[in-house]
Order: sequence, then structure tokens, then C-alpha cells
Amino acid sequence: MDLYNSLYSECHRDANSPVKYRIPKPQEAVAAQAPDSFHSILIKKNDKWQNLNSKHNIIFAHFFIIKLKMKIGNNSVVTLNYSLNAGLPDQPMQHIETTDPQSPFRFLSGVGGLIPGFENNLMGLQKGDKFEFKLAPADAYGESETNMIIPMPIEVFKHEGVIDMEILRVGNMVPMRDNEGNALNGRITAFTDQVVTMDFNHPLAGQSLHFAGEIVEVRDATPEEVAHKHIH
Ligand SMILES: [Zn+2]
Repeated sequence: MDLYNSLYSECHRDANSPVKYRIPKPQEAVAAQAPDSFHSILIKKNDKWQNLNSKHNIIFAHFFIIKLKMKIGNNSVVTLNYSLNAGLPDQPMQHIETTDPQSPFRFLSGVGGLIPGFENNLMGLQKGDKFEFKLAPADAYGESETNMIIPMPIEVFKHEGVIDMEILRVGNMVPMRDNEGNALNGRITAFTDQVVTMDFNHPLAGQSLHFAGEIVEVRDATPEEVAHKHIH
């Protein structure tokens, strides 16, 4: 945002005017080389604070630039804490995970890295905002696809002719590879002495999700972060 810079140069242009005013130095006003973190300028006029909505208004005795909160939009770097509960529709939800406030969840918005329903519900929020929303399966990890539940020959689980019973357990997530060598996780849902049934759907497929949490920090992504589609 160039508002601060245009304001600043405007002030210099007015430097010979009879009006007395104080211009905060950029270092004072713009902390940590992040001018984009400022999105509102308040002006004190006749002892009343008001928003500066035009740089041509600069005839006042004092003005301040205050650090206000960025809102989550596209290409925001967001830090937040959340608690996630999930369950099949019409069934009680179960607690899945809660972030550790010591290492909160961070993501870059607008690059498609997360389920869309999650980002959509956070748009426009800012630091300190609390959130709570529920996502239907279609807005979360999708429905559970039956063609992703695949019977595998028990031989796959044999190592030198022996089945590892530590691995072969119902509910275990097992890293596998498809024909093309792509890694994917499958969950063992059943097995016999011949066949192991594995579910390659996302563990939360078919489930409604309930998120509740709080925004810890929002900042604009740097151009490099946007180009790389990840946080630096
Ligand atoms: Zn990078």
C-alpha cells in the first residue's frame, strides 16, 4: 500500500505551510519493514479523530499512523489456532485435533493448499477474531468413494514370507505406492488370510468438520512467497 508514502510526501510538500504538524518518521510509524501491515490512518482534527480518506485532507495539526489489523484475503500469511471435531453426518462428532498454541497452524491463503471451505470461512477475519464454522463433507474432504476401497493380496504385507502383524491391524494407516510410484496412505479396514481391504480415501472423507479457533496473526505474503506458493 502506498498510502503512507503518498501521505508522507504530501506532508513534505506542505512543509512550508503555516500549519504546524508532526510527521512520524517512517521508522517510527512503519515497523519491521512491513508497511503493508498498515491499512488505516487516523487524523486528529479539531481534537477529533477521524479516518483519513483522502491525502488532500492534510491540513491538520496532528496526525498519527496506527498499526491496524490486516484482514485475511488472497495471499495472506495466516497464523491461527483451531480445534477440529469431525463426524459422519447425523452422528456425534469426535475430537480430531487441537493446535498447540506454541506452534500454531500457518498457511498461505489463495494458493489452493487447503480445503476451500476452510479458507472461505476465514476470509475477512483479522488478528484476534474468533471463528467457528461447520463444513459439509463436500466442502471438506469430499465424500468417501467406494472405488478408493481396494482389496489387496495378503502377499503385499509379507516380508520374506512373514506377515508383520504390527502393521496388519484394522485401523492402521499404511504408506503404499500406486503403479506409478506415487506415495499414498491407505487405512486397513478389514483382512482375511488372503485379502487385506484398504481404504485410500482421506481419513476425514465423508465427514462433516467443525472448526473453532482464533486468528493469531495476519500479514501480506511477500512477492516471493506468492511466486513460490509457500511461506518463507
Ligand atoms: Zn520459496
